[in-house]
Amino acid sequence: MLAVENLQTVFHTDKETVRAVEGITFEVREGETVGIVGESGSGKSVTARSIMGLVDAPGRIGDDSSIEFRGRELTGMTENEYREVRGSGIAMVFQDPLTSLNPVYTVGNQIKETLRVHQGIRGDAADEAAIDLLESVSIPDARRRLDEYPHQFSGGMRQRVVIAMALACDPELLICDEPTTALDVTIQAQILELLQELQEERNLSIIFITHDMGVIAEISDWVNVMYAGEIAESGPVGEIFENPAHPYTEGLLKSIPGRFPDETYLRTIDGDVPTPTESPTDCRFHPRCPKKFDACEEVHPAPVDVESGRGGHQAACLLYPDGLTREAAVKEHERQMEDSDTEADDE
Ligand code: SF4
Repeated sequence: MLAVENLQTVFHTDKETVRAVEGITFEVREGETVGIVGESGSGKSVTARSIMGLVDAPGRIGDDSSIEFRGRELTGMTENEYREVRGSGIAMVFQDPLTSLNPVYTVGNQIKETLRVHQGIRGDAADEAAIDLLESVSIPDARRRLDEYPHQFSGGMRQRVVIAMALACDPELLICDEPTTALDVTIQAQILELLQELQEERNLSIIFITHDMGVIAEISDWVNVMYAGEIAESGPVGEIFENPAHPYTEGLLKSIPGRFPDETYLRTIDGDVPTPTESPTDCRFHPRCPKKFDACEEVHPAPVDVESGRGGHQAACLLYPDGLTREAAVKEHERQMEDSDTEADDE
């Protein structure tokens, strides 16, 4: 359904160029949930906004980037063309429902406006469709609540309203950018359950963005672990949790609260995510990596199969592929990076 290839999103300012997303490639299939996980500053939200065509100046998507949705190339579309895709094909749910809802209009008005703009539904039909949508996200007494304002809803209920508004576009792909981060854990579990029910009912594909590995385990079929604008590791969710390959993923898994109940302190990954201003010539994780070795400061790792027969499990780390000597593995990464540089030059 969605194929993102070599996506580069760069922000040029007077002072510097921030390379927020650096050549990432992934796919989303029909009815599948792809989780994107990483710390703040890893490029998750910029990836989502790039797919939605919502990167504002001074941000820019690189010329060699491709985002194909249902066979249509989205990069280079005009704003009007993009609006049509956002209206019917792809919808987005943001972290803070209050930023998606207008405080001076009733919830009913806002859902009906979305129905009118994107599906041409008006009048009584819009009233009924809005009630159906609120009921589909399990908001009780939907007819009465249409006339209420966002501030009259609790945080969890507001997020349900935002999901209803996204569904009013009848999307095939829903991008959820940290939709449960501002909610407490019980409400978070309810929203995750709701998304799974809606996915089954509507055969929705979902991209779910979060910094929380626990949430990823609950909802994803496939996981992309992002670090400093790149995909550090990707694979089926079970494989990533049972056999994490990249030291960054290992660090994220070890820092899940409750993972080591006998320890007094929560484990963390020392240091911060860097803000990349140059194309990488090394492993961007090396200043924080407990397994780094000399080559990590000189060779940029390419995504490689961790081991053959592992269902597409890949890691961008010089320790892989498994089964090669360290020297041979580093050579394999150098060869892959040279090949991709040559391809880019040819294009
Ligand atoms: S390439 Fe080196 S520094 Fe980077 S994650 Fe692998 S071992 Fe660590």
